[in-house]
Amino acid sequence: MGNSVFKALVVEKTPEKQFVREIRERSIDDLPAGDLVVRVHYSSLNYKDALSATGHPGVTRQFPHTPGIDAAGEVVSCESGAFAPGDKVVVTGHDLGMETDGGWGQYIRIPSEWAVRLPEGLTLREAMALGTAGFTAALSVLKLERAGVRPDDGDILVTGATGGVGSIAVSILSRAGYRVTAATGKEFDEDFLKGLGATAVIGRDDVTAGAEKALLAERWAGAVDVVGGQTLAAVLKSTKYGGTVTCCGLVGSPELPMNVYPFILRGVSLLGIDSVQCPRGLREEVWQRLATAWKPSRLGEMVTECTLAGLEVMTQAILHGGITGRVVVNLQES
Ligand code: NDP
Repeated sequence: MGNSVFKALVVEKTPEKQFVREIRERSIDDLPAGDLVVRVHYSSLNYKDALSATGHPGVTRQFPHTPGIDAAGEVVSCESGAFAPGDKVVVTGHDLGMETDGGWGQYIRIPSEWAVRLPEGLTLREAMALGTAGFTAALSVLKLERAGVRPDDGDILVTGATGGVGSIAVSILSRAGYRVTAATGKEFDEDFLKGLGATAVIGRDDVTAGAEKALLAERWAGAVDVVGGQTLAAVLKSTKYGGTVTCCGLVGSPELPMNVYPFILRGVSLLGIDSVQCPRGLREEVWQRLATAWKPSRLGEMVTECTLAGLEVMTQAILHGGITGRVVVNLQES
């Protein structure tokens, strides 16, 4: 095992401060320290992976680097004894794929606390079809549920609905009995969104119309927002009395051009969602839900599969909001 060579996508920073990506052979000995070695069967592509692969300093500062914030595979060795060789595990969040070499390589070495056992009801491929995006969508819905948002309270809005987090949030909310309005910039994907369970599909502009006003007409009992910026501000301003909005993303903007009126006049709540440092107990609960009642019934149809070689095109596409559903990376075929 010590000298095993494997393939990984490596991002290099050139002297001209450009970021170039190529598939290289690496050795397990060169991986970061950790008590757990996993042979990765599948990884996935998230927006954050694309930022890491193109040198965004908010995600990765040390190069050369192998991105991949998600990995699912089989345990090769575990010095702490937390897992046995052959155990199937899922790794999302923590530092994987950020400064620690991630799932876009055929092996990872990590602290065993970062891994959870693959829950019964999911295959390794399905776990990566969900990945951090699915985990974040489920965590968002769990937080809405715990905040007391009920299916008969009214419509739940999901922004960025054709993306990874958005599409799985639409599916989970629908499975949990909520009426879901999907907001998208890809209105040609209406059939896809309705197939996931959206009861209505609206354009992005419909959400942000009148965003400059202090308050907007009350429309949403709750919302899952991945966009931030003007979109999140408009969503908060149009959330019904006592409603709850979750915030996990910034594809539109990291800014929040807001006033306090929705909070002090309508009792609206804004809940932050973090998948990276999510505590282990909650992490296992979320995966359990994803493997059972919240497992998207059409998960297979939401997935495009690629190899390491296919990631160049996919990375550019996700940066431009051009991916519908989820991208799974097959490391066994790479
Ligand atoms: P995707 O790229 O898969 O999806 C984002 C979607 O947002 C796009 O498909 C598009 O959907 C929409 N979109 C893209 N650009 C814009 C824009 N300029 N304005 C409005 N809408 C836009 O990303 P993910 O689903 O993987 O991630 C979504 C966000 O959530 C990212 O910011 C990511 O960093 C964040 N995230 C945060 C996590 C956390 O722990 N807090 C974990 C996971 C993700 P459409 O065309 O349908 O509108």
